[in-house]
Amino acid sequence: MLNLTRQMIEIRSILQSIDPNDNTLKLPSIVVIGSQSSGKSSVLEAVVGREFLPKGSNMVTRRPIELTLVNSPDLAAEVAEFPALRMNNLTDFEQVQKILYDLNLAVPITEAISNDPIQLTIRSPRVPDLSLVDLPGYIQVEAADQPTELKRKIRQLCDKYLEEPNIILAISAADVDLANSTALRASRQMDPKGERTIGVVTKLDLVDGAEARGILTNRKYPLKMGYVGVVTKVPQTSIFKKKTGYQAFIAQQNFESTFLKDNKDEFAGTSVGTRTLKKRLMRVLERSMALSLKPTYDRVQQELEEASYKFKVEFNDRSLTPETYIASSIDTLKGAVKEFSERFGRNEIKSVLKNELDQKVLDLLASKYWNKPHDQSREIDLDLRDIVNASPTDVYWHRKLDLTTNSLTKLGVGRLSTTLLTNALLTEIDNMIDNTTLRTHPMIKQVVRDAAEEVLNSRYYSTADQVENCIKPFKFEIELENSEWKQSRDHIIRLLNEELRSCDQYLQLLKKNIGSRKLTQIMTYLENKDNSIGETIERENIGFSPGILSRGRDALFLKDRASLLQFRISCLKSSQCKIKENKYKCPEIFLAAVADKLTQTAVLFLNVELLSDFYYNFPRALDAKLSNGLTQEQIEAFAKEDPKVKRHIELQQRKELLELATSKIEDVMTLQKHRTKH
Ligand code: GDP
Repeated sequence: MLNLTRQMIEIRSILQSIDPNDNTLKLPSIVVIGSQSSGKSSVLEAVVGREFLPKGSNMVTRRPIELTLVNSPDLAAEVAEFPALRMNNLTDFEQVQKILYDLNLAVPITEAISNDPIQLTIRSPRVPDLSLVDLPGYIQVEAADQPTELKRKIRQLCDKYLEEPNIILAISAADVDLANSTALRASRQMDPKGERTIGVVTKLDLVDGAEARGILTNRKYPLKMGYVGVVTKVPQTSIFKKKTGYQAFIAQQNFESTFLKDNKDEFAGTSVGTRTLKKRLMRVLERSMALSLKPTYDRVQQELEEASYKFKVEFNDRSLTPETYIASSIDTLKGAVKEFSERFGRNEIKSVLKNELDQKVLDLLASKYWNKPHDQSREIDLDLRDIVNASPTDVYWHRKLDLTTNSLTKLGVGRLSTTLLTNALLTEIDNMIDNTTLRTHPMIKQVVRDAAEEVLNSRYYSTADQVENCIKPFKFEIELENSEWKQSRDHIIRLLNEELRSCDQYLQLLKKNIGSRKLTQIMTYLENKDNSIGETIERENIGFSPGILSRGRDALFLKDRASLLQFRISCLKSSQCKIKENKYKCPEIFLAAVADKLTQTAVLFLNVELLSDFYYNFPRALDAKLSNGLTQEQIEAFAKEDPKVKRHIELQQRKELLELATSKIEDVMTLQKHRTKH
C-alpha cells in the first residue's frame, strides 16, 4: 500500500527541523484542544491504545506535546521515543508517563507554559500514521486569576498552533452543554467557518441516547468535517475491575462497542466510535496534507533558491561540515606543532633553563655575598671587599662558597626545570591555537589545552625525579675543567655587566623622575642619617615625603650595588680569577659553572623524557580526544562556536534539508498522480 500520510509526516518533520517557527513552511498536523475533564487525554490514549499521559488533579499540560504516531505492522507492541532526549525503544509506558510528567513540571509555574514542544514518537502495529499536538493551556486561559501577561502568552502559543493549515480536534463532553464548550469557542475564533475543525464528543454514555444524537447532529455549531461521538473510558464502578495497559484498551473498546450496539438506533446516521474517529483523522490529515503539498512545495522552492543564492554569494558554494571544519583546524594545529618541534629542541630547552638558573645564581650572590653587612659594629659577615686580600686557606670563604653551592644544587632543579619546560610548552600551544581558526573556539581551545596538559602531566613526576637523580652527584662534589672555568668566567662577567647596566638604567630613571639635584640632596641626607647624625637631621628634613625618601633609598642601594658590581667585575677580570684553584675568591665564576653543569644534565633528561614524548603523544592525544571522544552534537557545537562558521554550516544544512524536502515532496506528488490514475 502506498502510505502517503507517513511520507508526508516525514516531510513535515524535515520542514519543521528547517525552521520550527515558519508557519508557511509546514504541513498540517492535528491539534487537540479541550478543557480539563473534557476527556482530552482519554481520546488521545484511545487513539494510541495505551495510557501514556501524566494524570493528577494538579497536572496541567505546560508544554505542547507533538505526538507522531507511526504504524509499524512488524512490531509486537508499542514503542516510544523522545528524539530530542535521544531516548529510543521505550516499552515501559509508565516510564513514558513519568518522563512527560518531569518534562512538564520543569516549566516553572510562574511561566505557566513553555513554547518549547516535547516531541514524542510512538510506533505500534495498532496506531494509524498520524501527527497530533496535545496543546496546553485552555484551562489556564479560562482561569480568572492568571495575570494578563501570562494569558497573552498562552493565547499566542495556542493561536500559533491553531492557525492554518492545522486541523483542530475540539473535544467536548456530552454531559456539558456545547454552548459552554471551551474547545469549540477557541476553534470558532481561529476557524470561524468551521472548515478545519473536527468535533469530538466524549462521554456519550453519560447522557441518554436522544440527547447524544442531538449533540452529534448539531446544527447550531455546524462543522464541515462533522462530529464524532466516543466513549473513551470504562466507567470506574465496582462491577468493572480496573485494567491496565493494553487490557484497559481492550476493555474500553469492548465497552464502547457494546454501548454503541445497545444504542444502535439512536446513533444511526451519525459518526461514532474510536475506530471511526481514527479513520476520520487519517483521512482528514491525508487530505489536508495533500492539499498543502503544492503550496508547501512552492514555498520550499522559493526558500531553496534563496538559500542557494546566499550560499553561493557568501561561501562560494564551498562545502563545510562540522567534522571537516574541526578536522582541518586540528590538522593545521598539528602542522604547527610539527614545525615547532623542528625549532624547539635541546638548545632551546637549555636556554630557557639557563636563563632561570643564571637568575638564581644572581639572587644567591646578592643574598649571600653582595649584601652590605647591616650594622658595621655588630658585623658577623665579612665584607666582600675583604675577599681579595683573604688568605687562600681562609675557612670563612670556603664555608661560604660551599653553603651557597649547596643552596644552588638543592634548589629542586628537577621540579624547577620540569615546570619551566611544561609551562613553556603550554604557552607555546596557546600561541599556536591563537594562530589557527581554533582561536575563536573557547570550548575546543580548552580540549586542546587539556590534551596538552594530560600528556605533560603524565610525565611530570617521573621527569622531575629523573632530573633530580642525575644531578645528585653535584650535591657532593663538582669537578671543573680549565676550559669550563674560562667559559663560566666569560659568561658571568657578561651577566654582571648586564646587571650593572640595568642598575644604571634604573638610577637614570630615578634621576629623570625626581630631578638630578633633588635626588642627590635626598641621597646625601639619607647617607648622613645612616651615619647616625640622628634625630636632629630627621627633624630638619621633614620636607621630604615618605615616597620620595623611599625612592632615595632605592637610589642609594643602586649606587652601592653598581659600585660593588664594578669592583667585582674588575676582580673577576684580574689574574687572581683566571685559575679555578682560586674559586673561593671568585664565587661568581664557580656558581655560574655549577649552574651550567646542572643545566646540561637536566636538559638531557628533559629532552628525552618530556619533550620528545610530548611531540609524539600530543597529536595522538588530540585525536583521541577529538575524533573518538566527541559526540556528533559536541563536534557541531564546537564548530558553531565561531559565528561565521556557524552561519556557513547552518546555511549549508538548511540548503541540504530544503533539497531533501524538495525531492521527497516531488516523490509524493508523483505517487499521488499515480494513485489518482489507477
Ligand atoms: P482531560 O482532563 O480532558 O484530559 O480528561 P480525562 O481524559 O482525564 O477524563 C476526565 C474524566 O472523565 C476521567 O475521570 C475519565 O475517566 C472520565 N472519562 C473520560 N472519557 C469518558 C467517557 O467516555 N465516559 C465516561 N463515563 N467517563 C469518561
